[in-house]
Amino acid sequence: MENTLWAGPHTSIAKGFKAAFDAADKIGANTFQFFTRNPRGKKARALDPKDIGALRLGLEAKHFGPLLAHAPYTMNMASKTEKTRDFAREVFADDLKRMEALPCSLYNFHPGSHTGQGSEKGIDEIVEILNAVMAHEQTTTVLLETMSGKGTEIGRSFEELAAIIGRAEVPEHLGVCLDTCHVYSAGYDIVHDLDGVLAEFDRLVGLERLKAIHLNDSKTPFGSHKDRHEKLGAGSIGWAAFEKIVTHPKLRHLPFFLETPQEDYSGYEAEIQKLRAF
Ligand code: FE
Ligand code: FE
Ligand code: ZN
Repeated sequence: MENTLWAGPHTSIAKGFKAAFDAADKIGANTFQFFTRNPRGKKARALDPKDIGALRLGLEAKHFGPLLAHAPYTMNMASKTEKTRDFAREVFADDLKRMEALPCSLYNFHPGSHTGQGSEKGIDEIVEILNAVMAHEQTTTVLLETMSGKGTEIGRSFEELAAIIGRAEVPEHLGVCLDTCHVYSAGYDIVHDLDGVLAEFDRLVGLERLKAIHLNDSKTPFGSHKDRHEKLGAGSIGWAAFEKIVTHPKLRHLPFFLETPQEDYSGYEAEIQKLRAF
């Protein structure tokens, strides 16, 4: 399976993990992403050992690549509101505990929005929670997602990600998930200068920290600092750039996740087929 591209959609686990696996498998995907809990809610459903067992068997039988868990958007470690940060700490701790029971070792989260207190203070808050919750013994790699920089978002630059990782007490379990829509909106020109962007990432963060890619086209122009995903090829990034990304010697071994706006899974199926054909 050396040359297999790992690609899969964002799925729902509302009907369980095995159902999410089946949905991904049915469209020719060999990985998938899922929200750890309702993105707006707090309570996560109890894990069903039978469901997880069935997932494990499926992943092995179909040679799936690494799955990606995504934290809820309501988890904002950087908020100036203490209650919001306490909630984020609780959710993060509970998610990491649950991850130990899942056949999934990658956990992605949005670093957060500083909600007016400034990015330096926001970064302090993120680092505090990461250091309070993460442990050397954990088996999960926690990924900071690159963000577009809308509003007061942190993670709009590789410098900000490096600042967080640089102060972590458990750096061996930290990595980055690069979202193509977000970085392009943030002002990293992956269309005309992919190698330059990767060199910059390597210099500031280290390419060995890059563990996953979110493949999304963008409805808005380069450097817009907006976050509007588009179907692959239908936005400002375009198919030529996605071909370069999934075939790039420094990227092609990574798992690729689609968060493109689709009416149903057949849209993802078409995107995956096209990516595999490159
Ligand atoms: Fe995300
Ligand atoms: Fe994303
Ligand atoms: Zn986004």
